[in-house]
Amino acid sequence: MITKKVNLDERELPKAWYNIMPDMPVMPGPTIHPGTGQPIGPDDLAPIFPMRLIEQEVSQERWIDIPEEILDIYRLWRPTPLYRAYHLEEVLGTPAKIYYKYEGVSPAGSHKPNTSIAQAYYNQKEGVKRLATETGAGQWGSALSLACKLFGLECTVYMVKVSYHQKPYRRSMMQVWGSEVIPSPSDRTNAGRGILSRDPDSPGSLGIAISEAVEDAATREDTKYSLGSVLNHVLLHQSIIGLEVKEQLRKVGDKPSVLIGSCGGGSNFAGLAFPFMPEKAAGEDIRFVAVEPTSCPTLTKGVYAYDFGDTAQMTPLMPMYTLGHDFVPPGIHAGGLRYHADSPLVSILHREGIVEAVAYTQNPVFQAAVTFAQVEGIIPAPESAHAIKAAFDEALRCKETGKEEVIVFNLSGHGHFDMAAYDAFLAGELEDYTYPQEKIAESLKKLPKVDIG
Ligand SMILES: *Cc1c(COP(=O)(O)O)cnc(C)c1O
Repeated sequence: MITKKVNLDERELPKAWYNIMPDMPVMPGPTIHPGTGQPIGPDDLAPIFPMRLIEQEVSQERWIDIPEEILDIYRLWRPTPLYRAYHLEEVLGTPAKIYYKYEGVSPAGSHKPNTSIAQAYYNQKEGVKRLATETGAGQWGSALSLACKLFGLECTVYMVKVSYHQKPYRRSMMQVWGSEVIPSPSDRTNAGRGILSRDPDSPGSLGIAISEAVEDAATREDTKYSLGSVLNHVLLHQSIIGLEVKEQLRKVGDKPSVLIGSCGGGSNFAGLAFPFMPEKAAGEDIRFVAVEPTSCPTLTKGVYAYDFGDTAQMTPLMPMYTLGHDFVPPGIHAGGLRYHADSPLVSILHREGIVEAVAYTQNPVFQAAVTFAQVEGIIPAPESAHAIKAAFDEALRCKETGKEEVIVFNLSGHGHFDMAAYDAFLAGELEDYTYPQEKIAESLKKLPKVDIG
């Protein structure tokens, strides 16, 4: 009998997260206060984040214990299965072995609860009563709503207005878990009112919604802010993905040749890839591939520079690949991949040539998703489908070289709330849009002038 899914026992759930910082070949420059031009300290972040997460953001400890209360909730769906995609290998006619880690088994349907649970926990421990956050397509908002409900916190989600209307069921999920969901831009914040006065019909963007949520948290004593990707502590929490994969591959006696993840802010990619960095540094032949849409080509066409994390320029400046903080990507269906920048850790590893990046247009991505669904059964989230497309291309490359490589990709979520996008694909209505270089150049002119060093 062949093993289709490699499972770990609940007792084999990793008990500590892996922090890549002590193993970084180069460190990103410091996060900078836009007013003073100086590196920020814990006090600058204290109004919006709890101290334990601020510590994790800069920690040099390689292993950070996962508190028992978090493990207890992780066990609702973790460890997640690692599947061997035999049918897919057959259809592609590749000598490669293809594995996928399935994070869609969480209650919210993606990898995002790995960090939302941890963030809600640390906030609650420090006496915070309420969290504010933003969401694009609703994946992060639903993950944080779940976590807040489980830890008895209130939650307010600023949801990008166009998604609020186009994705009513993600909104319903957040409401079932007890959150207040506000279409952004809203009249609740100065940032939102500013945008509305200039553009009453603004469809909103992730950058605008972040500005609103940060302002909400910064102006209320009982409230802190929570971010679903990009920051070091988020990547830390997601390392549980790769740690499990390591154990699962060990069980079947395989070693990865290439690890692939879709890249929005970089957290599911890093969660899979970072725990394998020590092996790479020790000389093992492992490649890391981050996959993005051509309509929001941060790593493949952005520049490495200091930039704001939001549109209203309220956040500190971080060194990262960016398309400019006021970049508003077109409404492609992979809502979770539309952020203007990327995690500083993923960014610098890309600049150093350790992390590769590829970009695809929508139609080939959805074609790969449909092929995958038809042979492996699972209907992937459009974001995850980007990783599938890259895995296809790697498998076809192996077909040409005849090499029996081990391809592992992160199936970061299911697509059950994205069927409108599949409808559009099947009806031939998806546009293969590539964001024009001139428009990127225009956005980049507005970058803050900070020396990247
Ligand atoms: C949010 C999301 C992503 C992209 O976010 P990262 O932080 O880059 O992981 C990818 N896949 C799914 C299913 C998502 O919900």
